[in-house]
Amino acid sequence: MQTTTLTIGLAGNPNCGKTTMFNTLTGAHQHVGNWPGVTVEKKSGIIHENGLTLDMVDLPGTYSLTAYSEEEKAARNFLTDDNPHAVIDVLNADALERNLYLAVQIMELGVPVVLALNMMDEVHKAGKDIDVGLLSRLLGCPAVETVARQGKGKRQLLDEAVALAKSKNGVAEPLRITYGPDLDPVLEEMEQIIGEARLLAKKGPARWVGIKYLEADASVVRQGREQNAIVSARLEALVEKVGQHLQKTLNASPDSIIADYRYGYIAGVAKQVVRYPLSSADRLRMSDRMDTVLTHRLLGPVIMALTIYLLFTITFVLGEFPMNWLEAGFGWLGDTVKGAMGDGLLRSLIVDGAIAGVGGVMGFVPLIMIMFFLLSALEDSGYVARMAYMLDRVFRTFGLHGVSVLPFIISGGIAGGCAVPGVMATRTLRSPKEKLATLITAPFMTCGAKVPVFMMLAAAFFPAQEALVMSLVTLSAWTAALLVAKALRSTVIKGESTPFVMELPPYRMPTLRGLCIHTWERSWQYIRKAGTVILVISVLLWAAMTFPQLPEDQAKVFDDRIAAIETQMEQEKAAAPAAEEIATADSEDKAEEPKSPLEEAKDAAEAEKAEAELRNSLAGRAGVAMESFTSLAGFNWRVNIGLLGGFAAKEVIVSTLGTAYALGEIDAEEAAPLSERIAQDETFSKAAAMALIAFVILYAPCFVTIVAMAREAGWKWAAFSMVFNTGLAFVVAAVVYQTARVFA
Ligand code: GDP
Ligand code: MG
Repeated sequence: MQTTTLTIGLAGNPNCGKTTMFNTLTGAHQHVGNWPGVTVEKKSGIIHENGLTLDMVDLPGTYSLTAYSEEEKAARNFLTDDNPHAVIDVLNADALERNLYLAVQIMELGVPVVLALNMMDEVHKAGKDIDVGLLSRLLGCPAVETVARQGKGKRQLLDEAVALAKSKNGVAEPLRITYGPDLDPVLEEMEQIIGEARLLAKKGPARWVGIKYLEADASVVRQGREQNAIVSARLEALVEKVGQHLQKTLNASPDSIIADYRYGYIAGVAKQVVRYPLSSADRLRMSDRMDTVLTHRLLGPVIMALTIYLLFTITFVLGEFPMNWLEAGFGWLGDTVKGAMGDGLLRSLIVDGAIAGVGGVMGFVPLIMIMFFLLSALEDSGYVARMAYMLDRVFRTFGLHGVSVLPFIISGGIAGGCAVPGVMATRTLRSPKEKLATLITAPFMTCGAKVPVFMMLAAAFFPAQEALVMSLVTLSAWTAALLVAKALRSTVIKGESTPFVMELPPYRMPTLRGLCIHTWERSWQYIRKAGTVILVISVLLWAAMTFPQLPEDQAKVFDDRIAAIETQMEQEKAAAPAAEEIATADSEDKAEEPKSPLEEAKDAAEAEKAEAELRNSLAGRAGVAMESFTSLAGFNWRVNIGLLGGFAAKEVIVSTLGTAYALGEIDAEEAAPLSERIAQDETFSKAAAMALIAFVILYAPCFVTIVAMAREAGWKWAAFSMVFNTGLAFVVAAVVYQTARVFA
């Protein structure tokens, strides 16, 4: 045995338990001095063992060996200049990744290292565990579990350190980490040059010197120049060149790339050796297993389609009951107010304007709440992230992003959403261009307010194929959204699509509390809209359809006619009292009884008056004025009024059409639903219905959506979507109408 004294350094991050370990190892045998040239305290202690003298040196606590601080310099100089036989690196195993950063750098220096995985008690307390054997194999150095405060593992640690110091005698195979496709070839070239010139060979291995040159380590470069200026210049030129290249391609410096790869290497090691608490490990494994099915290439989309279909089926089936109750409630409220107030403008304002308008929107609240609850469950469970993941590829080809799926679905991707929260959901898109394209196309989806329009038209003109019509509407909306997005992304919103790692968080059981909060947040926005914006719009539209009133002389013509019919009815009743008695006695059948010719005549006269009133109103005049060009798409003046109302809110289309047609055709029976009345209108046709459906899918988002869009992307884009969408809608509607007329 030649050497009887072995120098063993103790390295580690601050607070990893290094001093505690030093004290338990050396006992009382220690003395304190100063590191040469620096103001950092140097502690060393001598241990005598089996004829060996161990000189233990407690290095200053550091996170790195970059030599920026006095502590780092002292620790690094000890490793490069004092040639210890081995180093014990004390790690806080509870923060393994951070602590391995120093360990990896010591290993790159080719110094023999023993890892002391300290604070293992903390690791176990947190429910974690570390596969020490695997860590040792992965890094190629011994590793020992310790609890310095209790002296646990101390004996084994010392034995490993001594064995290593004796066998390696201060020189170990340096750790080689890959630094990526840009740096690795350069590093290899530098290693060659450094090795041949034996540049700083006493300090560390050639690769380490090369890394230090790449990191622009001032002291290494200075010492390199001193030893061999020509070789150093060659190295510096290589560094300069690769540095410029990295700056251009990755906007990063070599040292930050080196740090990234070092952390990446460590993260890879830690991922393999650290075992997290059983529950969370199980969750991750479960997630992986679920994903093999749920994001399967063929099964995945099928399951996704079924899930969405189920979501909306449940929504509509469950939502029907509370929706009926609410509608009945608002109907009762209207009737009650009607009965309590005298005939007049104020009553009309409250009943026909406020209650009918707000009631129509509030009727959807239960549906919206159920849908949002189920959607939140899908989102909170992590499934929506999978949907985005699966659709990402398809969406990318249209200049969108997988994450765009969410705004589309919320806006009514299947039927029954709302574009306002949909537009707000575009916030999750990081690229402004993809966000814009999503923002403008999401309102094409079939929101809850558009559903009644399509359903009504389907019932009127395609009574046997309602489900098919609704499916086609949905399909058309998606097709339109993707095609328009593609068109916009190739023209007005041109630009690269952002590379983005689709994250797949582990599946998680949603909590009821979380679901309720999410549901309420979204529903409240909708309810508030009904109580504020829709209320105002309803009143305004009521006014536009009521004023100016019919001039007295014109109104008098209708009134006289109605009065004449009423007189006639009185006379008939007086002539046949028996018939009247039977009718009252069996009042339940009364509604079934056909109307007398006189009653029908009275209804007709009232309807004619109402039509004249509507035509004379502001909205009516606008509708009639527009007829000259909207007839290209088959829209009559009543449809125009409804569509004008739809600019404010899509809910208004059906309610306005209802009002317009209630005041409508000569032989319209009072009890007939709107769809029947529209079907009977000879200025309306199948072709016009198809054109109207196309128009409603595409035209300007409602006012509230426009405001939301302006908030997300500015008024310029909000205005763009209004003009562009409406223009596109009209062109498509006209083409549909003219084509359908030829074939129908
Ligand atoms: P140094 O900064 O690396 O020298 O760390 P110290 O030796 O001063 O220890 C920092 C703190 O960690 C002290 O409060 C120690 O008591 C505590 N400590 C050291 N080793 C262990 C251990 O294995 N387990 C636990 N739980 N605490 C430890
Ligand atoms: Mg200390």
